[in-house]
Amino acid sequence: MTNTWVKTTCAFCGVGCGVEARVSNNKIIVRGDKQHPANFGRLCSKGMALGEIVNNKGRLLQPYIEGKTTSWQSAIVKIATAFKQIIDRFGPEAIGFYLSGQLLTEDYYVANKLMKGFIGSPNIDTNSRLCMSSSVAAHKRAFGSDTVPGCYEDLEKAELIIITGANLAWCHPVLYQRIMAAKQQTPNLKIVVIDPRKTVTAQMADLHLPIQPGTDVLLFNGLLHYLFQVKKLNHHFIQQHTEGFSSTLHAARNEAHDLLFLAKQLAVSSDLVTQFYHWFSEADKVVTLYSQGINQSSCGTDKVNSILNCHLATGKIGKPGCGPFSLTGQPNAMGGREVGGMANSLAAHLEFNNSQHYDLLSHFWQTDKLVKQPGLKAVDLFDAAAKGKIKAIWIMGTNPVVSLPNSHHVIAALKNCPLVVVSDCMFETDTNTYANVLLPAAGWGEKSGMVTNSERRISRQRSLINPIGEAKPDWWIICQVAKQMGFSQAFSYSSEADIFKEYAALTGLKNKGTRDLDLSLFTNLTTQEYHDFTPVQWPAIKNTKQSNNKRFFADGKFYTQTTKAQFITVSYKPPATKTNSTYPLIFNTGRIRDQWHTMTRTSFIPKLCTHTPEPYVHINSLDATTFSIKHDELVQLTSHIGTLITRAKVSEKILSGQVFMPMHWTRMLSSSSHVSQLIAPNIDPFSGQPESKYTPVAISPWQYS
Ligand code: SF4
Repeated sequence: MTNTWVKTTCAFCGVGCGVEARVSNNKIIVRGDKQHPANFGRLCSKGMALGEIVNNKGRLLQPYIEGKTTSWQSAIVKIATAFKQIIDRFGPEAIGFYLSGQLLTEDYYVANKLMKGFIGSPNIDTNSRLCMSSSVAAHKRAFGSDTVPGCYEDLEKAELIIITGANLAWCHPVLYQRIMAAKQQTPNLKIVVIDPRKTVTAQMADLHLPIQPGTDVLLFNGLLHYLFQVKKLNHHFIQQHTEGFSSTLHAARNEAHDLLFLAKQLAVSSDLVTQFYHWFSEADKVVTLYSQGINQSSCGTDKVNSILNCHLATGKIGKPGCGPFSLTGQPNAMGGREVGGMANSLAAHLEFNNSQHYDLLSHFWQTDKLVKQPGLKAVDLFDAAAKGKIKAIWIMGTNPVVSLPNSHHVIAALKNCPLVVVSDCMFETDTNTYANVLLPAAGWGEKSGMVTNSERRISRQRSLINPIGEAKPDWWIICQVAKQMGFSQAFSYSSEADIFKEYAALTGLKNKGTRDLDLSLFTNLTTQEYHDFTPVQWPAIKNTKQSNNKRFFADGKFYTQTTKAQFITVSYKPPATKTNSTYPLIFNTGRIRDQWHTMTRTSFIPKLCTHTPEPYVHINSLDATTFSIKHDELVQLTSHIGTLITRAKVSEKILSGQVFMPMHWTRMLSSSSHVSQLIAPNIDPFSGQPESKYTPVAISPWQYS
């Protein structure tokens, strides 16, 4: 326990704000870290409440087997023995891991190493699949690598900031504060918000385009055609640094050459569309920020590529104040990508379809069991469990019973799976109910390691107190199971620093064939240097104390075989399910300001519960009249897979034909009001990301019966 200020990082969103924390009178108090380049001292309401998540309220304090407390040794033996038996009987692919962007980089790295390298199953995926996997797939298609080119400082240098499919004011609040401050400093900075809802973010925009949900590809294809029409393409950049432009432009022109028809499909006036296009064409420095409204779609990858196409066509990439910028949702979603925590990637941005990468990693890990093919992505992983193909699943720090679509199916999967292991810092979650083995994991303030934020900045989370009860760091738990399974040599780390250094060495291997992720200068960190690590953005080309000034794609070179970026021809595809006379409204979901994910930690903090005390659905006044809905009364929402009951809020923030409901409430907190009861598991074919923003529903006043 320490009563001096300790520099650490926020446990909530992907902005990755630096925090200073200390223990005072048995409480943890926090303040923003003025030196951290993500936030320069700012914190949002969730960050300010961080100290209050460190207590024993609702904590899982001991290991459990079948509902009875047990020792760590018994729990580890039980898991390792069962895994070995399942592998012998059904093969390694009968084991699945489901991870979380809340894990630290070291946790993620050893989980991936154990699963893909030593158990020999590719079936390891993460809840980040629900968050930014469409961006990962699109980056790889266009850039040849999962490289996010943006930096937060670009927000202060841009002339035009486009925010699409992201309610920054509530979901990435400190970035919103940075943009607001930039706007005050530079009154000429223009902000365009593209969002079907009139969010708090949209209210501060110079231009708000409330486009019809799902039509993003049309909007950006229209922009590409407009740029051609007004002669604002960067032909030099296109010729020197890209491939595939002609066919992409041809497809965009075919689809979006008629502005009036386009505006009709987008359901916004042609004047607004033209204004947006004009501003994009005239500004030299444009940043396009995007998040779940783009990614969480059955064509999310195409949506992202339609944005990347416009930046490539104008050369608005790789320069200060310019670029497409995918925002991550969770504190370490980016770290999970780096270490290969997704079913379709290997560690350190190595790729399955590259035999040189495969050999490098097998040799580095000294294993002959490295998997050869990608595994099952989140939705398919649980589906396989429901079908009896997955015999054991280990869920770490996440609550898929309420966060994955079609929660009934996820519950059926867990009930059908012979061994469900859950490691979490919280005791009562909807998922823990179905666990055969429950393992207490250390929480924020108790654990130590690295996280990487949306702009690729690696920062330390540092412990302030010893773990509560018998809780242990995730990396320790994973390594104990690995050693019990007979993999002692590969998992004998004495600290999280050992793990980070091994991962750093892997990123720097020669002949890796990809240059974007190289942390090899951290391979030989001393224990003290690891402890003192200051935030650094990759690619890290200098030592940890100096700033790094390399900008991705500044030289116009990308990570494709030809070093040229690829235009990806995309065309509008409607959402997987459409509204009809039975389900006439589009059900949209998202976050509210003061809650985090499924509220397992934030629901215990009174001050975070006052902003929005209970679940609700926003409905436009016209629809309220049509469907006889009264403000503040209970309503029933029905999709083709389920029903929920919640309170209606009549609001002009939502357009007619759509309804919106927050995603946070769970079965435990409000038994009939969690959104995944309604959402079908329709996924993007490239990324596997579910369509959580578009579900046709019916609404009616709730009748007590
Ligand atoms: Fe934490 Fe995100 Fe808020 Fe920053 S913006 S304090 S990282 S929740």
